[in-house]
Amino acid sequence: MADGAVKSSTREFDVVVVGAGFSGLYMLHRLRGLGFSVRVYEAGDGVGGTWYWNRYPGARVDIESMEYSYSFSPDLADEWEWSERYASQPELLRYLNHVADRFDLRPDIQLNTRVTAARFDEASMRWNLKTSTGESISAKFCVMATGCLSIPKAPEFPGVENFKGATYSTSSWPKDGVDFTGMRVGVIGTGSSAIQSIPMIAAQAAHLTVFQRTPNFSVPAHNGPIDPALVEDWKEHREQYKDEARAAGFGIRMVEESTQTALEVSEDERRDVYETRWNRGGFALIGAYSDLIADKAANDTAVAFVAEKIASIVKDPKVADILTPKTYPIATKRLCVDTGYYATFNRDNVTLVDVGAAPIEAVTPTGLKTARAQYELDAIVFAIGFDAMTGALTGIDIRGRGGVSMKQKWAEGPKTYLGLMVCGFPNLFTVTGPGSPSVLCNMAVAIEQHVDWITDCISYLSDRQVGAIEATSGAEAEWVAHVNEVADGTLFPHANSWYMGANVPGKPRVFMPYIGGFPVYREKCEEVAAKGYEGFALTSAAHAS
Ligand SMILES: Cc1cc2nc3c(=O)[nH]c(=O)nc-3n(C[C@H](O)[C@H](O)[C@H](O)COP(=O)(O)OP(=O)(O)OC[C@H]3O[C@@H](n4cnc5c(N)ncnc54)[C@H](O)[C@@H]3O)c2cc1C
Repeated sequence: MADGAVKSSTREFDVVVVGAGFSGLYMLHRLRGLGFSVRVYEAGDGVGGTWYWNRYPGARVDIESMEYSYSFSPDLADEWEWSERYASQPELLRYLNHVADRFDLRPDIQLNTRVTAARFDEASMRWNLKTSTGESISAKFCVMATGCLSIPKAPEFPGVENFKGATYSTSSWPKDGVDFTGMRVGVIGTGSSAIQSIPMIAAQAAHLTVFQRTPNFSVPAHNGPIDPALVEDWKEHREQYKDEARAAGFGIRMVEESTQTALEVSEDERRDVYETRWNRGGFALIGAYSDLIADKAANDTAVAFVAEKIASIVKDPKVADILTPKTYPIATKRLCVDTGYYATFNRDNVTLVDVGAAPIEAVTPTGLKTARAQYELDAIVFAIGFDAMTGALTGIDIRGRGGVSMKQKWAEGPKTYLGLMVCGFPNLFTVTGPGSPSVLCNMAVAIEQHVDWITDCISYLSDRQVGAIEATSGAEAEWVAHVNEVADGTLFPHANSWYMGANVPGKPRVFMPYIGGFPVYREKCEEVAAKGYEGFALTSAAHAS
């Protein structure tokens, strides 16, 4: 194995991992534990990924903390105690820093270093990488732990550079926070980050104007201190609950996915079920019936229930109407989980502007101009989302066999085998890549499964002196067709969502995550590995020069 030595100014490793978030930290821990030389490169100046960058007020996990945790180490699980049902960003960042210290990961992580290029050398069967700091690195394997939601969209509004006030992006919030006291603030966007931050900003600002293009469905978190009895129960049944989470379609045990269909029960019963789950909070609502994401009539019943809730919370019927989604089925865009979002629009210092009806025309030096009016602002918060799932990968100049770039290969949408590897790009793995359940799943569960699979694969190859592994074009084509076929059997393609690439102008409209359910996916991955990596071509190391 390579030892990380500097050879003619190129550092050599068995494995390079790009990204030090939830994925990269665990990837490093697993591979190093098996004796591989590994180096992690991270663009930020700290570990934590999503929870390092997204420090906006109100940022918190939308899956209960007990479930959004690593499960690989019982000791870690025993010693870490979450303070709230849904941990806040500072607590999540503390957790990931604790993991980095607890497993002594920092010596093998290089911060402030963006990987800019990765080229596969066919003769040596190794990856050559370049960084923003001018370094050259050679590694047999490259693991892209670059995140599904790590490349924010740029605020491309005309005139934005002329705005005289302050501008902020939820995805790169200042470390010291922002004091909006006495300010007229505008928030552009009403996705998950906006929905979490709007109540907090409204409580501080003199006035908040929310610019909404498309309303989102949001359900209450009912966040609060974590019940000690729940923690004890989890400690006692940890292995059982881990298995139950992995057996659940979304990788979330607490959603309690029902096997009943929505229309097989009476309206009264359905209402009771929705009410109970709304009161429980979080994604529980989506688990109410098995056909909510497959059958439009079933989905309509949940839409109607949430619309009634919005109407009952928001006092001004016109505002409630604007806040109510009408153009897509519930849960086909990421369902948001909030604390006091709809009630915020009852405040005297909050105005909702429907920029779906009257689009934003420009940012002016003193505010924002829509097709209907001018709004005077002291600060603008951009909560406009990410170039999801593919942005971090196409943002690196990745070149596989024959110098073909990943960006070129994915010009009409991402193509992968199992969201783990791409034909033409040997020895390069993607953690939660497009074509895997990823963002449709509890990502803690999805990440651990991917990292474990990749580790086992690298270990298998190493034991057998395999020089390169690569997805075959046939297996890749079949998987892409399967991912599309499963998506087409659901309501997901009915929404212009970031799952479809619809939030980025010019991005191909392809449903990117795998919606067949986490257990089905995991079984497929295990089967592929058990059959000696079926669908992958393995080349002997003897072929390397
Ligand atoms: C605001 C927000 C809230 C979320 N809430 C939830 C939630 O409640 N539940 C859930 O399951 N998931 C949630 N997610 C998804 C979240 O991204 C995952 O849960 C998880 O944190 C992903 O971990 P990761 O390590 O794969 O990626 P990330 O955490 O995104 O880390 C990737 C890292 O790679 C680095 N990187 C990228 N490109 C390069 C490069 N070229 N060179 C060097 N470094 C690079 C980035 O700087 C980043 O630090 C949320 C995402 C966001 C943005």
